[in-house]
Amino acid sequence: SAITNHLPTAELQALDAAHHMHPFTTNDELAEKGARIITRADGIYLTDSEGNEILDAMAGLWCVNIGYGRDEIAEVAARQMRELPYYNTFFMTSHVPVIALAKKISELAPGDLNHVFFAGSGSEANDTNIRMVRHYWAEKGKPNKSVIISRHNAYHGSSVGSGSLGGMSGMHAQGGLPIPDIHHIEQPHWWAEGGDMDPEEFGVQRAKELEKAILELGEDRVAAFIAEPVQGAGGVIVPPASYWPEIQRICDNYEILLIADEVICGFGRTGNWFGSETMGIRPDIMTIAKGLSSGYAPIGGSVVSDEIASVIGGSEFNHGYTYSGHPVAAAVALENLRILEEENVITQVRDVTGPYLKEQWESLVDHPLVGEAKIVGMMGSIALVPNKNSRAPFSEAGTAGFICRERCFANNLVMRHVGDRMIISPPLVITTEEIDVLISRARLALDECY
Ligand code: PLP
Repeated sequence: SAITNHLPTAELQALDAAHHMHPFTTNDELAEKGARIITRADGIYLTDSEGNEILDAMAGLWCVNIGYGRDEIAEVAARQMRELPYYNTFFMTSHVPVIALAKKISELAPGDLNHVFFAGSGSEANDTNIRMVRHYWAEKGKPNKSVIISRHNAYHGSSVGSGSLGGMSGMHAQGGLPIPDIHHIEQPHWWAEGGDMDPEEFGVQRAKELEKAILELGEDRVAAFIAEPVQGAGGVIVPPASYWPEIQRICDNYEILLIADEVICGFGRTGNWFGSETMGIRPDIMTIAKGLSSGYAPIGGSVVSDEIASVIGGSEFNHGYTYSGHPVAAAVALENLRILEEENVITQVRDVTGPYLKEQWESLVDHPLVGEAKIVGMMGSIALVPNKNSRAPFSEAGTAGFICRERCFANNLVMRHVGDRMIISPPLVITTEEIDVLISRARLALDECY
């Protein structure tokens, strides 16, 4: 019989386990427990096949910035599919949605980031960045400038290239990552690694690791430094305020391109259009995806400075994807940007709901299991600890986070755990009343873990 929402949950779960390989999942465990089947969503709530309404405090995978269920987007997508469902932008062709979207992104992006190379996802865009910065330096007569410096515990995607840029040890342990000429330095994670040091001093020390690496590798070898303005999938690690200014100084001083991976931070997540603005940095390239379309269609890209575009513009860059600048995805992204702008979603985050969420989120530190609470705009984390008076972790790392995540899920709240850090990244349209529901469900889950 047809596979629809009307089939019993157990039947859907069995079919799912039999044929569908889930990303970042132990599929045997999934087969035993059964996936939670999400059937629809509206606003900030998901509905599952049992009829439960689940508050999605992760906005899917940090992407549904405008919330679920916006008809305007569905209409734009249908219209575009009828008019021009697909065409590429290879070989001297273009189309209106991609022209309009590239122009809009250039207007929104800071500084002279006025050129967009489109991709289908954040991973693809970071693959583009690897090739583009190396190509840029080669075109400038410096082909040895090919090393890209990144950070441990960074997440930049899961393709061979972007997974190599990332600093996830679990990923590097499988499938032959990293590719050559990628170098990792330590992350500015004061809570876990700062010891007795003052956080700001620690921030400068960790930034200076970049300088040390450049000097060790040789200035003439290093092409770029890539980082997320706020490390997301690594556990929402908010750097000390001293960190980014020092990184910017080092990149300027040694002529190293700065790539800000804005896949999570971009499009309002930190209370400004881009995390680079929140952190006060001037990147040469920004990676974008996720919030660009609020997840309604897969699309990503690299937003590039005038200088880079002009240097690589003189010859053919042998790179591109079938779905670079896909017209339906581009039209959807454009409509999403219209909603973010016309409904003042980002100013609301910056001035009203963000400060309210910060106050409520930080109040969780009064819970006996919570050691610290960090938040920027609408991305936050709490550290679970066995003893509030020390920053020492649980002896079996990750177990408390796993249990807490399960308790959240049982209480109809989606929060993620990264080790023993619980993280949130709700839709940017969440209201103050909905924030109260989020916090009360989080408290309930924490109480059940304690
Ligand atoms: N960069 C960052 C900072 C991300 O968080 C992610 C995904 O979570 C990616 C890149 C990869 O994006 P995608 O999953 O669209 O390939």
